[in-house]
Amino acid sequence: MVLVQGKIALVTGAGAGIGRATALKFAEEGAKVVVSDIESDGGEETVDLVRKNGGDASFFKADVSKADEVQAMVAHTVATYGRLDCACNNAGIEGTLAPMAEQTEESFDRVVAVNLRGVFLCLRAEITAMLKTGGGAIVNLSSVAGLIGFAGLSPYVASKHAINGLTKNAALEYAKMGIRVNSICPGGIDTRMLDSLAEQATGGSMAASEMMAPLHPIGRIGTGDEVSNLIVWLCSPRASFVTGAHIAIDGGYVAQ
Ligand code: NAD
Repeated sequence: MVLVQGKIALVTGAGAGIGRATALKFAEEGAKVVVSDIESDGGEETVDLVRKNGGDASFFKADVSKADEVQAMVAHTVATYGRLDCACNNAGIEGTLAPMAEQTEESFDRVVAVNLRGVFLCLRAEITAMLKTGGGAIVNLSSVAGLIGFAGLSPYVASKHAINGLTKNAALEYAKMGIRVNSICPGGIDTRMLDSLAEQATGGSMAASEMMAPLHPIGRIGTGDEVSNLIVWLCSPRASFVTGAHIAIDGGYVAQ
């Protein structure tokens, strides 16, 4: 049995990395998918990949930090497919790698606007849509940096800790209305974001996998496909008793 047969799924930041892998996994497991991203090229490419695999997907361009664009993204989902069952609030940015005293207000504000305000705006619009059709399931992308500190990334760490709080509240407020909300906390995953962090940390002298692998007891970084398995499972009926949780998927990183 496929996990999310006939469901309608929305993934933000699905033009690359974990979001793209998640859109592909939702489609593989039977869902129709709205692929959203601030960048059209990557988003359209993800839609093409889903269609090449025989799936059904539609692209909607939106910046998750803007309330009107988030509203329009959810309205597009309902107009195209009739409802919203599963959502993955994945869009996020890493910000600038620097000690706190050197962080700028602009960088702090943008990280919080995308990572935290973005998840709040998405939750609000998604929950409103799901309440009309009797429920749904939502997964927010936190990070191991939502559970412990990561020197040099204070705005990112603050925003990811806050996502876990927002997740718990959304879960509590809507549990009786059939909406489950969870967050996941990945360790280093092989994407553009990790490449950018390695570039900022080493000036290009070390690849992300080389820099990050030793931090993980399992001895390597993870893949978007591995993370997408957890996201789609959390959105499926198999996870029917899981809500308000934050789940590490990190090769043992926070167990140390
Ligand atoms: P990525 O940079 O590879 O992809 C992020 C995608 O989000 C891009 O397609 C980008 O265009 C899009 N995006 C950026 N700002 C946006 C906005 N304002 N509105 C809509 N879309 C926007 O990153 P990734 O590694 O795939 O990360 C995805 C999520 O996973 C992020 O929330 C990130 O914080 C989280 N995460 C990543 C890692 C990792 O090691 N890669 C670890 C833990 C958590």
